Amino acid sequence: MIDVFNPANGTLVGRAPLHSAAQVSAAVDRASAAFPAWSRTLAKQRSELLRKWFELVSADRRAFAELMCLENGKCVAEALGEIDYGLGFIEWYAEEAKRVYGDTIPTHASDAAVLVTKEPVGPVAAITPWNFPFMMITRKVATALAAGCTIIIKPAEETPLTAYKLLEYARKAGIPEGVFEMVTGDPVGIGERFTNDARIRKISFTGSTAVGKLLARQSAGTLKKMTMELGGNAPFIVFDDADIEQAARGLVAAKLRNSGQVCISPNRIYVQSSVHDRLVARIKELVEEIPVEQGLQERFVVGPLINRRALDKVAELVDDAKAHGAKVVLGGSAHARGGLFYAPTILTELNDDMQIRSTEIFGPVFPVYRFDTEDEVIARSNDTEYGLVAYAWTRELGRSFRLSRNIESGMVILNSGSVGTASVPFGGVKQSGYGREGSHYGIEEYVHVKYTLMAGLA
Ligand code: NAP
Repeated sequence: MIDVFNPANGTLVGRAPLHSAAQVSAAVDRASAAFPAWSRTLAKQRSELLRKWFELVSADRRAFAELMCLENGKCVAEALGEIDYGLGFIEWYAEEAKRVYGDTIPTHASDAAVLVTKEPVGPVAAITPWNFPFMMITRKVATALAAGCTIIIKPAEETPLTAYKLLEYARKAGIPEGVFEMVTGDPVGIGERFTNDARIRKISFTGSTAVGKLLARQSAGTLKKMTMELGGNAPFIVFDDADIEQAARGLVAAKLRNSGQVCISPNRIYVQSSVHDRLVARIKELVEEIPVEQGLQERFVVGPLINRRALDKVAELVDDAKAHGAKVVLGGSAHARGGLFYAPTILTELNDDMQIRSTEIFGPVFPVYRFDTEDEVIARSNDTEYGLVAYAWTRELGRSFRLSRNIESGMVILNSGSVGTASVPFGGVKQSGYGREGSHYGIEEYVHVKYTLMAGLA
């Protein structure tokens, strides 16, 4: 079994199965065997099963939230937010299942008709990270099932309990074995099993860029369709014409979500020189109001980091910045509470040579850089291998369009710190990956386009 520990205090929360290679193969066999019948079910039937799953989980939101707090460390208030976000995908794709439309194309031959249909790609294997233990599962499973694919999930080792609870509720809703499977155990062996098996027609992966590339390489032999939701290095730009109070609030909410352990977390905060000191002073006030503790009550708190490796990485990045001249406005070290808690930290006087500028921080650290002109900040924002999301605050319409056009990322968020919902296409460019999740674009990742020529009609 895999032991799952509470990152806030190291106590055992529960255990998940450590599946053998034979058990993983059996899950692939079941998903393959179930595919032909599942792909031929009526969209309405698939929609009703997803709807039932949505209703059963919705009725138990609080139990899911407490479990997520214990295994992941995020506060219950945030876990409830993630659950609503994640349920949104089940609801959305229960509806979208009925709208996977094809086309007819004006014929090129007088005795023929041209049909274009969309078919489920086949059995899918998906690998998910620990930072959104609920939503990462629902956004892949709901989309796959809606499209008519079967799916096997391998959740992260740190957070399998929420995943298995979702599976349990899916079974109660009537989603059968084979159609939705789950395996846990050795990630390397499972990854190889998924990628080498020609029956798995698609891999959907969310996690680090390094593992994403490895899976892409491993899949070359069986040439699979792939969705890659990988790392980020999000710029958060505040121009001097912005509503500074709203920008500060948006920044603090976006940065401290899941203690900063989010792929879309603001990683480089660029503030126009004339409003730099004002913004820094305001975020300091806002951050100081937020408690640092395990959040089993329904108020927002900053929780622990997921494990010792994560804590060490954040400490190393902050120490490197300090050693190269960064000014610590707040925090700057592990939290006095000890364990895996890192103090919310604000750093200024940074330069572009520090490790923290090019590395995904994954912790509650606000690195604030000054800039002077729009052209300069766009160039600096784009100076990264990643391209997941960029945030910018400005009230000027022309500049808003220029930012949307010129920033190299899959998502540009203007005057808000909030990105995701089921109805929008989430995903990145460059080393942040390819493919989209959510919206009608998300379901396209799980179908292929079939062209049928019907000649001889004359
Ligand atoms: P990770 O190390 O890549 O792990 C993600 C998943 O991959 C886990 O289930 C892990 O299993 C599995 N895994 C690890 N090595 C593997 C291998 N050799 N073969 C197959 N599977 C393997 O990433 P993480 O550190 O947990 O998550 C943080 C990263 O995810 C960050 O870079 C973050 O930006 C990114 N992320 C991206 C998005 C997005 O939507 N773009 C969203 C969230 C997170 P174990 O847990 O069993 O090791």
